Amino acid sequence: MDNETIAAIATPPGSGGIGIIRISGPKTESVMGKIFQRAVDPHQPLPPHRLCYGHIVAPASGRESNRIIDEVMAVLMPKPASYTREDVAEIQAHAGPAVLEAILDLILSRGVRLAEPGEFTRRAFMNGRIDLTQAEGIIDIITAGTERALAAASAQMRGAIRRQIEDIQDRLMEVLAELEAAIDFPDYLEDEILPAREQITALKGICDTIEGMIIRSRESRILREGLKVVVIGKPNVGKSSLMNALLDQDRAIVTPVPGTTRDAIEAPFAAGGIRLSLIDTAGIHESRDMVEKIGIDRTRQRVGEADLLLFVLDGSEPLTSDDRQIYGEIREKPKIIVCNKWDRVRQTGIFPPSLSEWDSKGGVDAIEKDKEKTLKTSALYGEGIDALRGAIEEWVRRLTPEENQILPNLRHGELLVSARDLLIPALEGLKEGLPPDLIAIDIREAIRSFKKITGEASEPDLLDEIFSRFCIGK
Ligand code: GDP
Repeated sequence: MDNETIAAIATPPGSGGIGIIRISGPKTESVMGKIFQRAVDPHQPLPPHRLCYGHIVAPASGRESNRIIDEVMAVLMPKPASYTREDVAEIQAHAGPAVLEAILDLILSRGVRLAEPGEFTRRAFMNGRIDLTQAEGIIDIITAGTERALAAASAQMRGAIRRQIEDIQDRLMEVLAELEAAIDFPDYLEDEILPAREQITALKGICDTIEGMIIRSRESRILREGLKVVVIGKPNVGKSSLMNALLDQDRAIVTPVPGTTRDAIEAPFAAGGIRLSLIDTAGIHESRDMVEKIGIDRTRQRVGEADLLLFVLDGSEPLTSDDRQIYGEIREKPKIIVCNKWDRVRQTGIFPPSLSEWDSKGGVDAIEKDKEKTLKTSALYGEGIDALRGAIEEWVRRLTPEENQILPNLRHGELLVSARDLLIPALEGLKEGLPPDLIAIDIREAIRSFKKITGEASEPDLLDEIFSRFCIGK
């Protein structure tokens, strides 16, 4: 299979300025020699790594003579200095579906096969140019939605995680070598107590490094996927209106009838360089209406997935049992409490009963504790919206990793956890003076987890899963 030459259109479908076709494999140079004619020296082969101007020409067939398909720029990148470490050529043609298909067909008619999604990158991996974390970095670059996600992806593509993992692996190999020496020469440890102590320190250091990476792998989800901010509150407190005010557009439906926002409405939003999705929900309250009940169930699910909640109250009314019920359900979640309809309070000049109630009555101490996080807004008049935006940004800063961190993804995170769960008992065993061969088993198993991260040891299924996330032509 690896001897096959593959080709694909590497640019997105549709019309555009330039469309690129990529070829990789042993037949690349000969195919290019047959279909590409340089404008200057038509009979000279393509020089390596130089962009050349010319034409894609279909050979004469029947009574038809040679036919020019398009005017293009082409480059030949002989191995190993190419994306896949095989001979690669790229043809920059005009981007139109018919043109690109015609060129691709011409290439495929010469014993070249259509590439599968991610196959070029998979070859780069199989040929050892990149490891699996770098391949994942490439996907992350393509899908990065913010500058910070891009910075993290770019570092990963350039090998930041690979280096960190390889460093841990080297350190573990050293500990393992000492242990193996102790297995082979059992007297060694008894004579030399020092190496055991050094191993404990080394293993402790390794566990700490892994722990830090596990924490950052959790934080990395936020950079990759963004944060979910869910707006919650009983019907009619102004959730949709607030969402509109935050988004500065009429995305959610605002109606004076309680319970009209039946399904969640989701809108992208950015704060502090992080992608957020702002989700408006049906309120949680007792309801007999089936459709509304479904909406309420979904709300509960959304609340479960939320990174941050905006809990909206009607600041001009006393708290109700619905407010308390909702509060009971979201007590443990990070939240900002918003007292909306503050304009009414101001208009009537009456001290808001809800606030005085918080001060005097029991049963709402939890809200009381959160009072410093309480914001006053009027979605109707756009008041307090900037402060709310600021409060959301503050939370985003708190939840996102510091800049310039190396951020393992969730797959790495899971493997790091399994390595840690082997190494912590190994460390304990070392401290307790367990036989070195027992400890060595765990360490060898942990090293396997690291090899799975970099792809040095990985099952074809996993590779299929990762590379199928790429598009065709990448
Ligand atoms: P939801 O059910 O919580 O999404 O509430 P809506 O956004 O649909 O608003 C319910 C009603 O309250 C509508 O008639 C809004 O115009 C009104 N409303 C929303 N926010 C405010 C506000 O800040 N002040 C006042 N006076 N009315 C508001």
